[in-house]
Amino acid sequence: MASSLLLDENALRHVVAEVMRGLGRTGPAPAETPRPVRPSAPPPAAPASAGAFPRAAGKGPRFGVFEDANEACAAAQDAFAQLKEQGMAGRAKVVEIVKELVTARAVEWGKFEFEETKIGRLEHKIEKLQIVKLVPGVEWLRPYGLSGDHGITMEEYTPYGVVGAILPVTHSVPTLSGNIINIVAAGNAVVFNPHPGGARSAALAVRAYNEAIHAALGIENLVCTIAKPSLESFDALARNEFVRLLCVTGGPGVVQAAMKSGKRAICAGPGNPPVLVDGTGCLKKAARDIIQGGAYDNNLLCIGEKQVFVLESFADKFLEALVAAGAVKLTGTQLEKLTAAAFTMAKDAGGCSHPVLNRALVGKDAAVLAREAGTSVPEKTPMLFAETNLEHPFVMEEQMMPMLPVVRVKDVAQGIEFARRSEHGYKHSALIHSLNVEHMTAMARALDTTLFVKNGPSVAGLGLGGEGYLSYSIATTTGEGITNPKTFTRTRRCVMVDNLRIY
Ligand code: NAD
Repeated sequence: MASSLLLDENALRHVVAEVMRGLGRTGPAPAETPRPVRPSAPPPAAPASAGAFPRAAGKGPRFGVFEDANEACAAAQDAFAQLKEQGMAGRAKVVEIVKELVTARAVEWGKFEFEETKIGRLEHKIEKLQIVKLVPGVEWLRPYGLSGDHGITMEEYTPYGVVGAILPVTHSVPTLSGNIINIVAAGNAVVFNPHPGGARSAALAVRAYNEAIHAALGIENLVCTIAKPSLESFDALARNEFVRLLCVTGGPGVVQAAMKSGKRAICAGPGNPPVLVDGTGCLKKAARDIIQGGAYDNNLLCIGEKQVFVLESFADKFLEALVAAGAVKLTGTQLEKLTAAAFTMAKDAGGCSHPVLNRALVGKDAAVLAREAGTSVPEKTPMLFAETNLEHPFVMEEQMMPMLPVVRVKDVAQGIEFARRSEHGYKHSALIHSLNVEHMTAMARALDTTLFVKNGPSVAGLGLGGEGYLSYSIATTTGEGITNPKTFTRTRRCVMVDNLRIY
């Protein structure tokens, strides 16, 4: 009796599998055969859910580029449902597509973004795309299993649905590409509201990704972007019913807006990374490392070295080492001129004056800054530097330009305290060049930052020369840290009581 029932079930499963195959979808496998890998071949011309969002007549395929945020969110929700059908193999395919395309098109997209944003350095724009392949994918999601006297339990990392993501102008396509890998590996779809200054670059990459995803998996709008983003499109995205989670990469304004939205937000907020040089290590190496990290893409990296505190007794030698490594020192008068061009004074709500960054100089070459300072330096100069006090705007503000303020401190305790004040409690990044573990430990504890790099350039904190993986979104404000696929998942528990433990 029991065996004939089993045969009937098998026959039924075969019939269902055949019918599903006829519909162009993979159905449940016969019980005695292994579950097949889900298909990555082109799907039927009209996926089952293709009609689930309105598509304006005559507009043709969107491939993820939308004028309207609500329309983008509906399309992404539809794509999310289709991705679910394709299982882990579908997600892995998308990750593979993104990594291959971003590597192959790095030069073209790097040039495009450089021309659109007009900030940073072309070679670094290209390199930031070439290293996107270091972002982790589906392999990151390992379920957590428990087995005990009361049975077995599995905790799974499952998707949210549609993620709304905000991009900075400092790295539009790199952040977009890294976010897609993390977010889709976790099983979600995503809608981006890019910075208006980098929106055309974002649309170029989004279209290419969707065309390739559509060719491989039949999903048209897994990754969406707003063609002309605005505060209104941000608002629409944050309010949309399909958006279950926000991922914000940007400065204080957008972090605040996201936290007020009522949606759960992962916030990769601003930083102002200080460096302490205590003189116990090699000063020449410290100078080279600081220039490598701080001058990278003209200081646009949020992790990039923004101000240095050096022990008085080693300061002269350290400044010489900066010059030997290619940086150019500004005189007091030159610094004054550049400061007047780089910052204006404004009154805050309480009536106090505070410096406001001049965005026109953000990400500009050291040679351009030198001209503003009333001098000239060779075009290839990586960085300018000048001696300042703690309260100087170049120390206290996140300048995002290759002008490094250097402050002399009387001892390590003062260096740590000044570094802490200049970081403003962003809990983003900090660095030390030292061979003294007590100094390292004291600074790590006092600053409490998400990233703390010892004896290397800041980029080593993201896996470039240090151990670890890459992400361009470091969730500092909300505490998730260097984002990875697990960041974009809900943890769900599945419990079998008293059974299935096999010993
Ligand atoms: P930004 O804050 O000017 O803009 C970031 C994004 O937010 C843009 O898409 C912009 O259009 C949007 N935006 C700005 N104000 C908004 C508001 N009130 N409401 C809704 N959207 C708003 O920053 P940026 O110049 O593009 O990028 C540089 C900033 O981002 C720096 O502060 C840097 O430290 C930070 N950043 C942080 C990380 C990180 O991983 N933590 C990574 C990159 C950049």
